[in-house]
Amino acid sequence: MAVSSPDRPDRRWAHAVVTGGAGFLGSHLCAALLAAGTEVTCLDDFSTGRPENVAGLLEDPGFTLCRADVSRPFEVERPPDLVLHLASPASPADYLRLPLHTLDTGSAGTRNALELARRSGARFLLTSTSEVYGDPHEHPQSEGYWGNVNPVGPRSVYDEAKRFAEALTTAHTTVHGTDTCIVRLFNTYGPRMRGHDGRAVPTFVRQALDGEPLTVTGDGRQTRSLCYVDDTVAGILAAAAHGLRGPVNLGNPEEITMADLARRIIELTGSTSEIRFVARPVDDPAVRCPDITLARGKLQWEPQVEVVEGLRRTIAWFRDRTPGADRSGSD
Ligand code: NAD
Repeated sequence: MAVSSPDRPDRRWAHAVVTGGAGFLGSHLCAALLAAGTEVTCLDDFSTGRPENVAGLLEDPGFTLCRADVSRPFEVERPPDLVLHLASPASPADYLRLPLHTLDTGSAGTRNALELARRSGARFLLTSTSEVYGDPHEHPQSEGYWGNVNPVGPRSVYDEAKRFAEALTTAHTTVHGTDTCIVRLFNTYGPRMRGHDGRAVPTFVRQALDGEPLTVTGDGRQTRSLCYVDDTVAGILAAAAHGLRGPVNLGNPEEITMADLARRIIELTGSTSEIRFVARPVDDPAVRCPDITLARGKLQWEPQVEVVEGLRRTIAWFRDRTPGADRSGSD
């Protein structure tokens, strides 16, 4: 994968620090950077990530894995020229279990990652989220929409942490001139997600493969946009290579209802599972779909992997895990 962009086609990174690099998305990003010849230091406290996600990278001489909580001051052995700040619980099950940790990571963790970038003269990229739009009144959501977030609801620990992280990133550029970029990721799925992490794709795939009912919340008409992990990684790297500050949406504008997603997964797995409708979580957004005009125009980026193909690859990965073993991956 080329780490390049239309504006800076020759931009290459010597050394990237990836916070949260042992997580689902971070581990794919570390692999893509290494494949492009960039040395990678992965910082992770393993609060929601897993060493096995990056086990395959440990033999690469360009890869360094450090256990660190980015909410506390940390050092890296040599200065990076790129800091990709992904550290944060991301699934509802995780951030509801770790509310204060999530807020600390979004605030102090982001501050520490920004300071590393400033000290090193590195470019900094924050992986923010579509959750900053909350339960949106504008559809699809463009970057100019300010959002509709309940600041004291259960999800606020994640949504507000990310909104604060965006504000902090912006202020760092204003005050210190730090070279920053904010990307707002919409739902991403793929191999290495955990079957019990509460996100729709891994939950449905695990349930379908285990012959359990697929638990669709509410009436199943709420929508999400699902982007395959390789596409999201390509978008993050394109935004890093570009001089753009953002925020810029990265997601798949193809919308799917949760009931349709469940049916599709039953079909693709050949499962005999049925669908069971269960209570909808508090403040669960009714719709979610990115306007990616900015990413298309500035980064010449748009998702390439069709949802059916992405689901096939994800299902194959879940199937390949030891039969009979806990597919949750939550070791
Ligand atoms: P994940 O939980 O798999 O990965 C997050 C990683 O961060 C984990 O490895 C975890 O151990 C690590 N981490 C958490 N707190 C930390 C801390 N204080 N110090 C060091 N490491 C810490 O989640 P993911 O899906 O890979 O998400 C990665 C990033 O992308 C997150 O910032 C998330 O908000 C963002 N994002 C993801 C999605 C998505 O659909 N996957 C959508 C929007 C935004």
